[in-house]
Amino acid sequence: MEEKLRVRRIGLTGGIASGKSTVTELLRKMGFTVLDADAMYHQLVAANGALLPRLVEAFGEYILAADGSLDRRVLAKHIFAEKAAREKLDAITHSAVYHELDRLAKETISQWKIQRTRKAAEDNEVAHRLLFFDIPLLMESFGASQCLSLDRIWLVTAPEAMRKQRLMVRDGLSEEEAKRRLAAQMSEDEKQKKADVILTNDADLEKLKKIVEEAVRGEEYA
Ligand code: ATP
Repeated sequence: MEEKLRVRRIGLTGGIASGKSTVTELLRKMGFTVLDADAMYHQLVAANGALLPRLVEAFGEYILAADGSLDRRVLAKHIFAEKAAREKLDAITHSAVYHELDRLAKETISQWKIQRTRKAAEDNEVAHRLLFFDIPLLMESFGASQCLSLDRIWLVTAPEAMRKQRLMVRDGLSEEEAKRRLAAQMSEDEKQKKADVILTNDADLEKLKKIVEEAVRGEEYA
């Protein structure tokens, strides 16, 4: 039978304190499904998580906490000074997170297909749906992300001074610490080159909402 449900997969990303979570929240309030890469990672490294055996194989038993979950502090200490170990960790985790997100996306789309009314199918109506993925490190793991077959990438961005201010307020950081975290990020220029849509979050929440609504309209009828 001919496929009547067309889904556009959209990756949502942005640097630290740019406003990704705020955009995700707005999209969910608008009724969209947003799959979350961070939540998926936490699930994979919780006790009995599917990623743990692979991490133990790569780094050793000592990375496990007493409850069998990943002891992130121990692992972070181990990889801190060693670039090769960091790269190994990234390769394992990014690939696992993307494959699981893809599995979840397929499951979600199957559910949507089941929910489509018989009448819509009989009328030959073609439905378009947007499926979002909140992926903070999408640009940094661009190669691995290919298995997710993203159709589009949205980048949330904001002027550095504003991100610094938001970071200080949200996380209670000193100006020095906020600056240090911003400086550790991939450059905005580099990120913008890979983005299809740029959401500039440089004003209040009302304005951000309008920007998100406009971006959604751009996708639905593109
Ligand atoms: P991280 O990558 O660090 O998790 P993020 O990109 O998800 O950050 P948010 O947590 O959405 O960023 O936003 C950072 C902070 O700035 C939050 O406290 C949020 O409430 C606030 N914020 C975001 N956008 C706006 C805005 N347009 N107006 C006012 N506050 C905002």
